[in-house]
Amino acid sequence: MPELPEVETIVRDLRPLLRGRRILTASLSHDDVLRGVSRRALLRGLAGARVRDLSRRAKHAILETDNRRLVVQPGMTGSLMVLDSPLTPEQRSYAVLRATLDDGRVLVYRDVRRLGTLLWLDAAGWDAYTGTIGPEPLEPAFTPKTLHTILQGSRAAVKKVLMDQGAVAGVGNIYANEALFAARIDPSKPASAVSAGSARLLHRELIRILQAAIRSKGTTVRDYRTGTGRKGAFQFELLVYEREGEPCVRCGTTLAGTHAIDARITVFCHRCQT
Ligand SMILES: [Zn+2]
Repeated sequence: MPELPEVETIVRDLRPLLRGRRILTASLSHDDVLRGVSRRALLRGLAGARVRDLSRRAKHAILETDNRRLVVQPGMTGSLMVLDSPLTPEQRSYAVLRATLDDGRVLVYRDVRRLGTLLWLDAAGWDAYTGTIGPEPLEPAFTPKTLHTILQGSRAAVKKVLMDQGAVAGVGNIYANEALFAARIDPSKPASAVSAGSARLLHRELIRILQAAIRSKGTTVRDYRTGTGRKGAFQFELLVYEREGEPCVRCGTTLAGTHAIDARITVFCHRCQT
C-alpha cells in the first residue's frame, strides 16, 4: 500500500494539472469502492465542480472541490493519474473513476483489485475523518515531544504504534521498519518503554527517511507508480525492508524477519536494535 512519501509524490505530480480545473463529467465502473456515498450522489457532485487543490492527509490523496472533498484511499493496486483523452483500451481497463476536465484531460482512479476506497465528504464529514488521524510527521507541530507522548500512551510494540494511523499519520510497514533500524530500536519493544532520548532519535530518523523517500519519488517494490507513471527509486536506499537474510549494513549480522509483531513482515538487526 502506498505510504506517505508515495502519496505525497503523486499529489505533487498531479497538483499542477488539477488546480483550478473544472470537472465536466464523471463516471464510475464499480460501486464497491464507495464508502458513505452513493454512485449517483458522487457523480452528480463531481460534475461541474471546480478543483481547488489536490493535497494529502496520511496515506490518502484529497481532491478539494468548491464544497466537498474526494478522499482517495488507494489500496495495494490503486493509483491516481491524469491522462490525455481519449484513453487507450489499456488505460480504460481497471479505470474505476474517470473525471473529464475542462482542458480535455481525464483524472483517473485506477485499481486492479479494487481494494481502495473513495469518500465524498462535506465539511462535517471531513472534520470527523481527519479527527481520527494522528499528526502529520512532516508538519512543524510534530515535535520529538509529540512523538514521545504518543509512545508513552501505549504498551503495544513501538512498530505497531508507529503504523497506527490514529497515532501518527502516513507511516506504514516500509518506513516503520526503516526508521526503527535507523534509530536502533527493537521493533517489538513496548512503545511506553522507549526513552525520551530514543524517541528523539526516532523522530529525527523518521522525518529524515520520509523526506529522503519523497526526494526519490517513493518506493516501488511492486505496483506503486508516481503521478507520471514512473517507478520510484527509494527501494535502492532501503536498509532493512525486503532485505531479510542479507547482512546488516552497520554490523554485518544477518537481518532477521518476523511476522510476530503484526501481520506484516518486520525486518531488523538483532545486534543493532536492542
Ligand atoms: Zn546490525
